[in-house]
Amino acid sequence: MARFDVIVVGAGPAGAAAAFRAARAGLSVALVDRKTFPRDKLCGGLVTGRARAHYADIFGHPMPFAPDERKTVVAFHHRGRPAGVIADAPPLCATMRREMDAALCAQALGAGAQDFTGQGVAALDTGARNLTLASGPVLGYGVLIGADGVNSQIARALFGQSFDRARIGFGLEIEAEAPHLPHDTVRIDLAAARWGYGWAFPKRHSTTIGVGGILGKNPDLKRAMAAYCDLLGLKVPEARFKGQFLPFGDVRARPGRGAVLLAGDAAGLVDPITGEGIGHAMASGGMAALAAIDALGEGQPETALARYRAALRPLHRDLRMARLLRPLLYLPATEPAFAHAFARSTTLRRMFLAQMAGEAEYSGILWRVAARLPRFALTMVQRRRIEE
Ligand SMILES: Cc1cc2nc3c(=O)[nH]c(=O)nc-3n(C[C@H](O)[C@H](O)[C@H](O)COP(=O)(O)OP(=O)(O)OC[C@H]3O[C@@H](n4cnc5c(N)ncnc54)[C@H](O)[C@@H]3O)c2cc1C
Repeated sequence: MARFDVIVVGAGPAGAAAAFRAARAGLSVALVDRKTFPRDKLCGGLVTGRARAHYADIFGHPMPFAPDERKTVVAFHHRGRPAGVIADAPPLCATMRREMDAALCAQALGAGAQDFTGQGVAALDTGARNLTLASGPVLGYGVLIGADGVNSQIARALFGQSFDRARIGFGLEIEAEAPHLPHDTVRIDLAAARWGYGWAFPKRHSTTIGVGGILGKNPDLKRAMAAYCDLLGLKVPEARFKGQFLPFGDVRARPGRGAVLLAGDAAGLVDPITGEGIGHAMASGGMAALAAIDALGEGQPETALARYRAALRPLHRDLRMARLLRPLLYLPATEPAFAHAFARSTTLRRMFLAQMAGEAEYSGILWRVAARLPRFALTMVQRRRIEE
């Protein structure tokens, strides 16, 4: 049986970051993914300033982007009406995950991780600390990092389920030809889905269009997607819609057990307001690798989880803050007044973009929103009166 200091399952942003960092630190690393790369991943592919900062921290150089992937215009809409444009937003990069993830995986392999892509997992034995690949080989590990996405087999092996069905989100997307939409503008449509939103991200050869929200609040997300396509002037047969779960506010308080750590979507690390997950995936993969390096360095792999949890604490706190703030944006009773305030307030729009750029935390936004609450409540009452 081959033994590795670290086995990483999943070679997306979380797994590639973990494998790269552990291999660079001189550990023996196996990188397992059931797919061979390049592979598709359903995703808006929007990479924020926050994500780019995590990338640079882990991979040691700025994330490479073609100039036409960089977007600085963000146009917000609410129920079809313009709700404010920011023309000089902190840059957002509209990537295709197929290309980005292949490049991330290649860097992890280039750093020395052994290539087990194209191989699924048949079984995990946490007692004996080994993993059986579907193709037969058994690999031993000191620390295992489960970075195998929202449907995580590793999380299921530890906890019986990959995610909490009552809290999980879901997204539908298409790649469309939409030359009539401005190529330099990232479009966000508040309320295109319940407890969620719609998006149109222009890419080099297509536009990624989608809607997403909490699954339990959107029993007919396909209809919301069809309505959104109509709104954007696109005729798309439903058969072309592709869907995927999204841990949109389904953070795992306990991201692993003993020497098994969960990172990225497998740990539910997606922003409950924006749905952003690429940056948190890379950051948590990097933290999991550091926890493994330290735990193995002291000959105590079973302490990896405690170390990892300590490192994750600030991110967990921020995601909790976002969950506190979320009802204000998405509750049917408050959403119209929030959208009204959002459309009128450049400050509010900039605050959210600053959060995505990694220049502000939700705790700061929460306090500023709390300070505006009396005015917000007044707006709500006035709007209710007008609507009655
Ligand atoms: C519709 C939609 C739109 C989104 N848009 C954005 C966006 O614009 N910006 C953003 O930041 N985030 C976005 N997200 C979230 C983002 O896609 C995820 O948060 C991110 O991909 C998480 O990275 P990860 O490495 O944890 O998992 P993944 O990227 O899902 O990678 C997991 C890897 O594990 C592999 N794998 C899975 N199961 C196994 C197994 N059993 N054995 C071996 N390998 C396995 C998979 O093949 C895959 O390569 C979106 C999500 C959805 C669903």
